[in-house]
Amino acid sequence: MSLMPPPLAILAELTHRCPLRCPYCSNPVALIRSGEELSTGEWVDLLRQAAALGVLQVHLSGGEPTARKDLEEIVAVARELGIYTNLITSAVLLDRARVEALAAVGLDHVQISFQDSEAAAADRIGGHAGGHEKKRAVAAWVRAASLPLTVNLVVHRQNLDHLGAMIEMAAAMDARRIEVAHVQYYGWGLANRAALMPTREQVAAADVVVAEARARLEGRAVIDYVVPDYYARRPKPCMGGWGRQFLTVTPAGKVLPCHAADSIPGLVFDSIRERPLADIWEHSEAFRRFRGTDWMAEPCRSCDRREIDWGGCRCQAFALAGDAAATDPACGLSPRHAEIAALAEQDSRAGEAEFLYRSFATVEAARARRAGPPSDRERREAAATPGPG
Ligand code: SF4
Ligand code: SF4
Repeated sequence: MSLMPPPLAILAELTHRCPLRCPYCSNPVALIRSGEELSTGEWVDLLRQAAALGVLQVHLSGGEPTARKDLEEIVAVARELGIYTNLITSAVLLDRARVEALAAVGLDHVQISFQDSEAAAADRIGGHAGGHEKKRAVAAWVRAASLPLTVNLVVHRQNLDHLGAMIEMAAAMDARRIEVAHVQYYGWGLANRAALMPTREQVAAADVVVAEARARLEGRAVIDYVVPDYYARRPKPCMGGWGRQFLTVTPAGKVLPCHAADSIPGLVFDSIRERPLADIWEHSEAFRRFRGTDWMAEPCRSCDRREIDWGGCRCQAFALAGDAAATDPACGLSPRHAEIAALAEQDSRAGEAEFLYRSFATVEAARARRAGPPSDRERREAAATPGPG
């Protein structure tokens, strides 16, 4: 009998293929090739195991999940199993017929990301010409198909001054939920931190923009907004606590407590190709490592917020403190907090820093720019990373 409550939701990364090249992409730098992806049958089996475990929602994500030709089949199975389906998409590969087909097989919800309020700026950030206008068209088809729409706005120094216009754009598309999400600085985001980090003044102005938009749109749209980690006083309860509510399945079937957990060295993640989902959820070493509060050191161990924010983000603790078991340096009680405040200050003044776009070619170019031969890690990443699309 299971002792753990079941996960509420699964983030199913159906593929890492994506025509966009966002410099803050949450995918790992070492992307997974299409030949390694789970088959339709393996995803269907995973959904059956998830339903038996008690999972209520599946977020169909990527990469770009609509790059999978079997998406309709996967949605139909989830519907048959009573699992709520949310499609997280860049939208650029969709046409009207496919939106209608997905609605017909029972898709429950669509979330579309926008990079800016204007086409030229948005296409530059996403690294994909024509993307913005296509997204606008797809958003209209989604609403015409009576599917509820969330617009996701990832914000950073290069678009934060347009936040008011971006929110207005989303509201005009009849989005019922608008997510204003600051870039998370690990993986590609960490590599681009100097190009993306907002200034303190921008963050303060954005707080006002959001407050005013919330008042103006009350009853029409809900705005989700979280203060960016580097300017926070306390960390977010990342994933509702490690291994407590969510799990991520990578395109190749690895099961992670969060989508960035692979960035922490030394953790071994199980695959649904080798171990049943329920067994992984309950017993996997990687899930147990930071579950609950026993792993915590001070100041978290004796803190009265330890079961509220669960010590913050483990991936960020590793990225910034070099120790995944440390207090998230976003917390003002962390001994490293002053360092990340200084990093934010420094990066936010970096001016016109160029993007390192997400792609196989980027990994190669970064290696070529450096003096000397590639590191072992770069060799592995270059070998494992396909181009976009
Ligand atoms: S490149 Fe952009 S659109 Fe594609 S998966 Fe990454 S963040 Fe999403
Ligand atoms: S010390 Fe730990 S538990 Fe307390 S607020 Fe900071 S991160 Fe959260």
